[in-house]
Amino acid sequence: MLCPVDVILCMAIFETQVISEQQNGAVSAAVQQLSAGNLVAVPTETVYGLAADATESSAVQQIYAVKGRPSFNPLISHVADASMAKQYVKISPLAAKLMKIFWPGPLTIVLTALEDSGIAPEVSAGLDTLAVRCPAKETTRAIIAKLGRPIAAPSANPSGKLSPTTADDVLAGLRGKIPLIIDGGDTPVGIESTIIGVRDDKLYLLRPGTITSDDIADATGQPVLDRDETEISAPGQLLSHYAPNASVRLNATRKQQGEILIGFGDIAGDLNLSASGDLSESAHNLFKILRKADSKSERIAVAPIPDRGIGIAINDRLRRAAAPRTEP
Ligand code: AMP
Ligand code: MG
Repeated sequence: MLCPVDVILCMAIFETQVISEQQNGAVSAAVQQLSAGNLVAVPTETVYGLAADATESSAVQQIYAVKGRPSFNPLISHVADASMAKQYVKISPLAAKLMKIFWPGPLTIVLTALEDSGIAPEVSAGLDTLAVRCPAKETTRAIIAKLGRPIAAPSANPSGKLSPTTADDVLAGLRGKIPLIIDGGDTPVGIESTIIGVRDDKLYLLRPGTITSDDIADATGQPVLDRDETEISAPGQLLSHYAPNASVRLNATRKQQGEILIGFGDIAGDLNLSASGDLSESAHNLFKILRKADSKSERIAVAPIPDRGIGIAINDRLRRAAAPRTEP
């Protein structure tokens, strides 16, 4: 339930300003807005994030209001480094090892939250865990360090829709709803972070990403177990998500009438995720090409993507993009 003040805030109309990360004062401008309890869209290496001071309930509530995000879907807290994370979550030796190997980078780790950590309860949607990540994007780490507190930041788009990989994508979805976007160019990774749960010295894959289970198992010497083998709750990964306006048909080897075909490898298509069949390039291009296809046709078909390595994460996003649409 939103209280009246939040309703007023979420109806606020802003003239959304876009500042290049290279412009003098970009970091300070972002920190000023965040300190004032406002939202700022920030670049990360995965997709653009819609950031709020994670310790301010009213700011975090605005994320849910602006995105139209269901209140049961918890947010990832982005930290400047592992020592900032330590102020908010219990870090086991295994979690410390993950941070040392993969941070900064596109790996989110779900850990037990410290009591009275000061993180707004809305961030975890009432769970006793907190998801933490240290982004590789330096500008955003500088913003967090200067703020001195974590930022809660889901993708900077209306809930359930395609994730934004450029400042223009953010503007297309959120113009007038937020005061500031920091433009950090095209996001290199292109899809959301891998999410790993750590409990009782075991690792669980809660969401696949470009850091694969094999990468994590190789680096830690520990197997990565499936999500259905854990009691860790990771609500909010809805079947319909990342949805363009168009319908989406998967595993298409040729297009049917009225469709635009997104190709991969040998299947050329009208647009192509990666002509050479490179999965990392395909992840980088995924949301970009889905957006482009969405602007050209009401029916999108997508070539088969191998279900291994990074392909597992791409197929996860594609399955949700193709799922029957539900109201957010
Ligand atoms: P998004 O911000 O949309 O990329 O999604 C973040 C996802 O991270 C959520 O949908 C949850 O599945 C997961 N998540 C965030 N916080 C937690 C948490 N405390 N415990 C378990 N999963 C979480
Ligand atoms: Mg999202």
